[in-house]
Amino acid sequence: MNPIFAQASTSIFETMSRLARQHDAVNLGQGFPDDPGPLDVREKAAEAVVKGWNQYPPMMGIPELRQAIARHYKRFHALDLDWENEIMVTSGATEALAGSLMALIEPGDEVVLFQPMYDAYLPLVKRAGGVPRFVSLKPPHWGLDEVQLQTVFNERTRVVLLNHPLNPTGSVFSRADLDLLAKYIVAHDCILICDEVWEHVLFYNAAYDPTLTLPDLRRRTLKIGSAGKIFSLTGWKVGFVCATPEILKVVAKAHQYITFTTPPNLQAAVAYGLDKPDAYFIGMRSDFQAAQDRLAAGLTALGFDVIPSKATYFLNIDLSKGRFAGMDDVTFAMRLVEEAGVASIPVSAFYAEHPVTSVVRFCFAKRFETLDEALRRISRFC
Ligand code: PMP
Ligand code: GLN
Repeated sequence: MNPIFAQASTSIFETMSRLARQHDAVNLGQGFPDDPGPLDVREKAAEAVVKGWNQYPPMMGIPELRQAIARHYKRFHALDLDWENEIMVTSGATEALAGSLMALIEPGDEVVLFQPMYDAYLPLVKRAGGVPRFVSLKPPHWGLDEVQLQTVFNERTRVVLLNHPLNPTGSVFSRADLDLLAKYIVAHDCILICDEVWEHVLFYNAAYDPTLTLPDLRRRTLKIGSAGKIFSLTGWKVGFVCATPEILKVVAKAHQYITFTTPPNLQAAVAYGLDKPDAYFIGMRSDFQAAQDRLAAGLTALGFDVIPSKATYFLNIDLSKGRFAGMDDVTFAMRLVEEAGVASIPVSAFYAEHPVTSVVRFCFAKRFETLDEALRRISRFC
């Protein structure tokens, strides 16, 4: 058996959701909205099933969806993508990550990763034969540090795996950070795999530059997106990649042997959804922002040091100041679920080494009643 998976622990999301069920807790751990997602998009998926769209669709994804993705990025970011040669549909961002890493890494290649990092990254990089090199980001800004970049990049660096906007921190890399990273990527002739699944879930007018829009990165970037986050339909697992034809051709070979394809009705519904008017995307942001504001205000009133989030479904609290100072994130999260009945995620779970142990993540993509109930329970715990 392969030790990377044989020795892997159960994901922190699964673990905390299990504890939430066991303790009948309000689950603000694993990131999923309690809203069912836009009705018109769900209806399109149902219609497509009834119409008979139930057999294997084309391996690269249905043309309607690939064209819709190209139109979407033209509309939002003035990007020109060739839908036939630069866009492929995958079964979620997770398949896109697995396939890209398998296709682009040769055993022994070094891969730059940024901590805190999404839980799937490290096992997939290692299983593809990559040698991880870590850059550590620090709260509250989670920005890049050139000294660390200088240390990790070398002649063996082949791939950089970035999550932008970043889960779990809710931060967005600045243009200055991206320019700095681009300098190293170009100098070391690397490919950037950029997981941009949170691209639409942005707050407080956060400035977000998709990496494909940086001229130096356009031909070196493989961008990953996910309809799960664009439409709050996390269970659908419809993702996609955008990259130059040279890169995409190779990643498509991995895709053909992993999932080969993705349910056609869901693809049709996502194609419809991507053309929704700007008002949908603005409305989604303002709904989530109102939820974030409510949870942040409640936690602040209880004395927590809240790190506001510019993106994602998550905000963080920093325990290093205030009444829980000295308690580590895992102890806090365990006590919170067991004693208060509220599940959260300890951010140290997103580190492979030298973890920050004072930060705890809460998902705010919930109804106000759910957030208020969580706050009531936390107030009794404080
Ligand atoms: N990457 C990041 C950074 C995520 O936060 C998530 C899920 N929240 C994924 C990938 C997985 O996306 P999908 O469900 O489309 O596989
Ligand atoms: N991406 C979700 C989160 O960050 C969890 C996905 C999962 O459970 N693997 O909470």
